Amino acid sequence: MDSLWDDKQAARVLEREGQLGLRVYSSRLLGQNPDLVLHGGGNTSLKGETRNVFGETSETLFVKGSGWDLKTIEAAGFPAVSMDYLVRLGTLESLSDAQMMSELRLALLDPKAPTPSVEAILHALIPLRFVDHTHTDAVVTLSNSVGGAERLAQLYGDEVLILPYVMPGFVLAKQVAEATRGVDWSSLRGIVLLHHGLFTFAEDAKTSYNAMIELVTKAEDLIRELGAELPVEPSEPMPVSNVPSIEREQLARLRKAAGEVFGAPIVQRLNTSALARGFAARADAAELIASGPLTPDHTIHTKPFGAAFAETPLEGLEEFAGDYRQYVAQYAQPHHRCLDAMPRFGVWLQRGTLSFAASVKRLGVVDDIVTHTLQAMLTGEALGGWRALSRAELFEVEYWELEQAKLNSAPASADPARELEGKVALVTGAGSGIGRATAERLLTAGAAVIALDKEQDGLAQFQGQPAALALCCDITQTQEVEAALDTAVARFGGLDILVSNAGLFPPSQTLESLDDANWDASLAVNLSAPMRLLRACTPLLRQGFDPAVVMIASKNVPAPGPGAAAYSAAKAAVTQLSRVAALELGEHGIRVNTLHPDAVYDTALWSDDILATRAAAYGLSVEAYKTKNVLRAEVSSADVAEAVFLLAGSRLAKTTGAQLPVDGGNDRVI
Ligand SMILES: [Zn+2]
Repeated sequence: MDSLWDDKQAARVLEREGQLGLRVYSSRLLGQNPDLVLHGGGNTSLKGETRNVFGETSETLFVKGSGWDLKTIEAAGFPAVSMDYLVRLGTLESLSDAQMMSELRLALLDPKAPTPSVEAILHALIPLRFVDHTHTDAVVTLSNSVGGAERLAQLYGDEVLILPYVMPGFVLAKQVAEATRGVDWSSLRGIVLLHHGLFTFAEDAKTSYNAMIELVTKAEDLIRELGAELPVEPSEPMPVSNVPSIEREQLARLRKAAGEVFGAPIVQRLNTSALARGFAARADAAELIASGPLTPDHTIHTKPFGAAFAETPLEGLEEFAGDYRQYVAQYAQPHHRCLDAMPRFGVWLQRGTLSFAASVKRLGVVDDIVTHTLQAMLTGEALGGWRALSRAELFEVEYWELEQAKLNSAPASADPARELEGKVALVTGAGSGIGRATAERLLTAGAAVIALDKEQDGLAQFQGQPAALALCCDITQTQEVEAALDTAVARFGGLDILVSNAGLFPPSQTLESLDDANWDASLAVNLSAPMRLLRACTPLLRQGFDPAVVMIASKNVPAPGPGAAAYSAAKAAVTQLSRVAALELGEHGIRVNTLHPDAVYDTALWSDDILATRAAAYGLSVEAYKTKNVLRAEVSSADVAEAVFLLAGSRLAKTTGAQLPVDGGNDRVI
């Protein structure tokens, strides 16, 4: 592992922002390496002084506040805490979790600061200025394998103290205090907490950071020397995998069943990276996936063990739920309430791994942890056998109120504006106009969105959004649609909302001059493609959560215009298709509704030139032309997107087979 320390940059930071700036700098160096710190695992601190309003100075600990991530932490993420208070807390015989958290807030020197890390007392007891703590993969993997403690002791000799696992928080602080009584701190470079992580410390930021890097590198080198290093990079990008259609339906059914166990819509992902496939191909994959996590703090995201899925994945789900409930029954105290029994990850034998979460954001966290866990498990096996913590110890952490509090305070689930969280939508023609506005609206509401467009250009805006899967796809080509659905189901698990929007407006031609190519092209894009897409999506929608189809037709259906036969006839037919679909799919709970937008001028179709020409043709200004409707209002793509959102979500749950205009009011239609 390379040190990322840059002397010049560190000197600049020190000059500008002092020691706390340097604390932020090296915390971020640790935080940006996922082999050291993964999703909140780890904390750091600095000892210094603060001056109060009376001009008195006191010894102060600046320690990571809860809710901050080392990767992006700022000075405000290090609340100032009274050293004297913390050290005195460390002398108490016992302290309950709830009381400790309340005492930590009392020890704050700024009442508005975030709550200090649960390890604040431990940080205070280490008598050096800078303290760094990570859940390093290499050290924890060694510790989670047969003979790990002995190997680590031999590797580090006297310069590192190795302590058996205890619960984090007050108990851990007491353990470290006992173990270091009378120790010569100047000869000690670090403390290994078995099955948990590594602490390093020094009087200056660089020495403490480099001690972390050097000790971790030693562990990595040992793993390599023992021939247990894996050839696969954990950062391998998520593959765009194609699953056979038969498995597509199976996956959607699994997602539905998993969501029912969870009690809400969920997203599910099939990972077929080389690492995942390699794991799934092992004869002992089912046993290994159930054998315990990398570090116990992962259990709030992943639960303490994974599920195993075979030919019939639904059986694996039931088995997991049974095992999980049994595990809870075995270790729970009367005050514990059993959490949901949905697995967060599992192996699908011979195929890859699966992950499950309430939102795409959480799914990303699970995926990252699972990737590191698989790597660690395989390394542990190569070292002689993976030996994670016992289920009793894992239960204590998973159901620890301080851990569960971390999840409850996460913003994703709490936001009422994100009512489509956990749902999956597919939008065609998503690269521009109404399609783009719709995709954005559904993303804002929390849905995962598969954005299809024929043109790559318009899809660029979705890149880098984890909840969007942008695919270049010509919906008139069955194979391209099939491939897109395969990818979509692998990525998000299924489909709840279909928005058929992609359309084509052929050049204006009277019937006499209408040429076959224009007629055929209009029917192909505006009618046949939506029919085939709906047909292909129906098996997935049948496994959807409150599934809904929204067909974008046109004002031309109730109020056609001359010169638009090819367009109007196709849109009228697709409206009829939508009505038949409403009749046929109602028994499966699938709602099918149609929108008739009109005069939506903020689309790629309407350039300023065309708009000016059309306005002139009516003898109107552009402004008057845009608002020539009953309400005298300009209709935008966003207005149509809002109507899609209403029909696609649960607000109009009792409406199907309806046709809704979004046109500012048209006197021919009214
Ligand atoms: Zn820790």
